Amino acid sequence: MNRVYYFILSAILLLSCCSQKSEKSSSAETKPKARQAAPDFKADSAYAYIGKQAAFGPRVPNTKAHKDCGDYLTAELKRFGAEIFIQEATLTAYNGTSLQARNIIGAYHPEREKRIMLFAHWDSRPYADHDPDETNHRTPILGVDDGASGVGVLLEIARLLQQKSPDGVGIDILFFDAEDYGTPEFVTDNQKENTWCLGSQFWAKNPHVPNYKAEYGILLDMVGAKNATFYKEMISMRYAARYVDLLWNTARDLGYGKFFIHAPGTAVTDDHLYVIQGRNIPCVDIINYDPESDTGFGHYWHTLNDTMENIDRETLKAVGQTVLQVIYDN
Ligand SMILES: [Zn+2]
Repeated sequence: MNRVYYFILSAILLLSCCSQKSEKSSSAETKPKARQAAPDFKADSAYAYIGKQAAFGPRVPNTKAHKDCGDYLTAELKRFGAEIFIQEATLTAYNGTSLQARNIIGAYHPEREKRIMLFAHWDSRPYADHDPDETNHRTPILGVDDGASGVGVLLEIARLLQQKSPDGVGIDILFFDAEDYGTPEFVTDNQKENTWCLGSQFWAKNPHVPNYKAEYGILLDMVGAKNATFYKEMISMRYAARYVDLLWNTARDLGYGKFFIHAPGTAVTDDHLYVIQGRNIPCVDIINYDPESDTGFGHYWHTLNDTMENIDRETLKAVGQTVLQVIYDN
């Protein structure tokens, strides 16, 4: 993912003003309902799923590690009782490279009309183009927080969904591919747009179920770092304010207010943008944002330091338990 340039964002916002009804943030609509019992999110379990992905090495499309990890994720969702949908596609990267990509989807209660989609990207970036050492800029990153953390949290949620599903709602877990193959910083003459989030762009045009619709979606991206701070990402606020409030208020009620900050964040080009634009589904991006850093992200972002050392179980628990509570309260 990357930060959105403000002029692009304004153009998107302007367009959307003309083309669709805006999502209103209203305190009346987000009045808390009685809490339902949600299962206990096991951070140890999520941590292990993250470690397992990291052990494959960088999951860059067209590599063996990528293929093996995709097989692993498919097998895990199957083991946790989801109905599996695999989307294979050849996608074109910023530099013309053909990427053998795979979106991996697990559906719970696919017959239910009311649905919530939970998603993350499972590929990792081919370039450490923000590494302090310039000689590393063309080296693939391990993508532990940036990629594996969101998937790890969702695998633990999948495990719990098999044991006890929330009433009245079907949950779809989507692992999007080729999110992080966007134009690298060292390429300055590339004018191609929309080079990030290739898997979700493909899915938005070709959903795994015809006319797929969900009430809303939650994207988890970089949700595992120690002392992570989740600010209210700007595109999420524009299109899904009531669900942002629902998540942030739930986090506060559960005692995770130090992670979920009640303040606006930046706008991020991430998979949620294409789901919102392509399928008109309001989506929230839960993403670690550091207002103090130059990039807006953690010091390890798009460097060779995006490793297991940054991952903290307390953060995984805060995110996983909050998302679970919201979907069981649905
Ligand atoms: Zn990234």
